[in-house]
Amino acid sequence: MEILFNIYALFFGLIFGSFLNVLVSRTHDGESLMTRSHCTKCKSQIAWFDNIPILSFILLRGKCRKCGEKISFKYPLIELLVGIVSLFCYYISYDLRSYILLFSISFFVLYFSIYDIFYQEIFDKLAIPVAVILLVINIISNFYPIAIYTRLFTINFGLMNILSGIIYSLFVVLIIIFSRGKMGAGDIRFAAIAGLLLSTDKLYFAIMSTYIVGSIVGIVVALIKKRFKGIPLPFIPFMGIGIFLSYIFASEFWNFLLLGKL
Ligand SMILES: [Zn+2]
Repeated sequence: MEILFNIYALFFGLIFGSFLNVLVSRTHDGESLMTRSHCTKCKSQIAWFDNIPILSFILLRGKCRKCGEKISFKYPLIELLVGIVSLFCYYISYDLRSYILLFSISFFVLYFSIYDIFYQEIFDKLAIPVAVILLVINIISNFYPIAIYTRLFTINFGLMNILSGIIYSLFVVLIIIFSRGKMGAGDIRFAAIAGLLLSTDKLYFAIMSTYIVGSIVGIVVALIKKRFKGIPLPFIPFMGIGIFLSYIFASEFWNFLLLGKL
């Protein structure tokens, strides 16, 4: 039975991965989410059987059925990524509630990360509501504690997360002042969202791991592809990675640092 639920979680993730692709491109182009998918070149509608995550891409060999326009491999890649993330969320969750909450957080972190990779900015019309919802959750949690429990970590909400949001965004403001524009205004806004997802004890580790992972990737990218030189790396994906590394490792890190044991 358990294997069946794992397969459900994977398929659910693949479908949401497909939705994520649509959401990223349509929010950027200002198109409605309600209309059917169409080819970017010939504008012909894509039939449901040509719109199955990953499978259709393989069957169509990455080309539009009508005009033969190449479909980027990044779409099935994103679908697969969201599928695996969903499976992982399900695997570590104790119950359906934890899974839904954890997957929702992951979905929006992925959305803002991929949007940043594609367009080097943040979509405010979604970033502001997400920040407001997190703010409300943190305020409510001060009276009725809200937490997400998983096998690997616990995500706490409360007033300390609001403090984290303020500290993290101010920190990015300082970075921008001192690095003269390597990061953008969108990064300040995402830092506020990231902070709202982190209790203060997790914040330091999140920032530290964001910079370590970002630097390593930055150096590797600069070494293998010279043409990337001078192009600023999108920063939101690293802040997203930092959030989850902090969820998983922050308490162990402090235990080790302060008590000398894991
Ligand atoms: Zn076409």
